[in-house]
Amino acid sequence: MSARVAVIGGGLAGISAALACVDAGAEVTLLEASPRLGGAACSFRRGELWVDNGQHVFLRCCSAYRGLLERLGTTGATMLQPRLDIPVLMPGRRSLRLRRSGLPAPLHLGGALLRYRALAPAERLSAARCALRLRRLDPGDGALDRRSFGSWLAEQRQSARARAALWDLIALPTLNLHADDASLALAVKVFRTGLLDRTDAGDIGYATRPLAEVHAEPARRALATAGADVRDRTRVLALESGERGVTVRTDAGTVEADAAVVAVAHHQLPAIAGPRWPDVAALGVSPIVNLHVVYDRRVTRHAFAAVLDSPLQFVFDRTAAAGLRRGQYLAVSLSAADGYAQARSAELRAAFLPEIRRVFPGAARVEPIDAFVTREKEATFRAAPGSAAVRPGCRISTPRVYLAGAWTDTGWPATMEGAVRSGITAARAALIDLGHTRSLPEEVAA
Ligand SMILES: Cc1cc2nc3c(=O)[nH]c(=O)nc-3n(C[C@H](O)[C@H](O)[C@H](O)COP(=O)(O)OP(=O)(O)OC[C@H]3O[C@@H](n4cnc5c(N)ncnc54)[C@H](O)[C@@H]3O)c2cc1C
Repeated sequence: MSARVAVIGGGLAGISAALACVDAGAEVTLLEASPRLGGAACSFRRGELWVDNGQHVFLRCCSAYRGLLERLGTTGATMLQPRLDIPVLMPGRRSLRLRRSGLPAPLHLGGALLRYRALAPAERLSAARCALRLRRLDPGDGALDRRSFGSWLAEQRQSARARAALWDLIALPTLNLHADDASLALAVKVFRTGLLDRTDAGDIGYATRPLAEVHAEPARRALATAGADVRDRTRVLALESGERGVTVRTDAGTVEADAAVVAVAHHQLPAIAGPRWPDVAALGVSPIVNLHVVYDRRVTRHAFAAVLDSPLQFVFDRTAAAGLRRGQYLAVSLSAADGYAQARSAELRAAFLPEIRRVFPGAARVEPIDAFVTREKEATFRAAPGSAAVRPGCRISTPRVYLAGAWTDTGWPATMEGAVRSGITAARAALIDLGHTRSLPEEVAA
């Protein structure tokens, strides 16, 4: 008889776990509280528009996430730069690009850094030396997780300007914290794996269709085709587990399984956790806010850009992905958005629309036809010093229950890549422990 696995949560971790189990021949029931799959990476309709809850970006080094896209048949619904190339805009100054070359790492970034006019020449040299020192650090070193990236940058004599215009430019969207607040270990992981260790690692990718068409709907189809039972609008209330299996209690009855993969977000865990489950409250949360602005005409030719000397952070052209036929739709993506998460939409519009006009001359005299805000107050765990010690592995002291989610001990910050890795890892552990050895998902490489 095939193993019965219940997967709780239909985000990218749960989808990956469910696919891994069903592909290995297990009998899978996926239980998702909301009406749709996709979790923290999702879309909704606003009139004619498809709106993503927040801009999602991946890198070429996100091998597990890209593997999921392949499995779902949606690689073609994303773009991946042939070479890392970030336009950097500065109000009132000529824009520049952070663009890698084809040289072996870390030389591939040498030219970009030395030409990086956002910094003074001495700051560029100092940043290059700092990057080489960072490349020698081990992200798995527990001591690095006990201190902040910012304190280390200060020790490396990185100026305030270098921290804002270079290090935070990467830290903010990847760690969802400012360098000063982020764990050095996680920063090392991001900078080494995402930029410094391999020439092509940091090439940027993102969806060219709504996330619903990239993850949620294809995942539902793939799971159904493979024989999984996907139950949305089904909230799990509690799990009772013993050496012989798990009873999952939901608001629509019970599900009996040989093992359960729990793939809910860390802040959702206490609602279903048993007494011996890990306490992950100390991970905290970090918000992401997006301001969505629609114009009746094109205001910039940039597909996306980083913005310095302005609160705008990153701006993406969402026109085609959202299905807008005329005009242009820009999404301003604000990470580490503690200061904005509670603000009213009118306040955010009043603060940011003039900034867009200042940064994009094409928008200077154009009134948007729509401007609205999406707030994800619990977007990610805080990638802060000490977080590594709190993140549990997939096996916990409760028998037959396995944890997955971007917040588990993946070594990655809270990313789509981390979510997919965690799902595969938990599925593999559950199947192995059940003595299921056929068609096991491959172990995810470190
Ligand atoms: C605005 C925003 C922007 C982001 N940008 C990026 C980015 O650019 N790049 C990147 O890599 N990552 C980004 N992330 C992070 C990324 O989206 C997440 O790390 C990842 O999607 C988390 O997946 P997950 O499956 O671990 O958890 P989740 O997506 O949170 O999934 C958990 C699921 O469990 C369900 N659930 C909870 N409780 C129950 C219950 N009791 N019963 C049944 N179901 C339950 C929830 O409804 C949810 O669907 C962003 C996140 C946000 C919010």
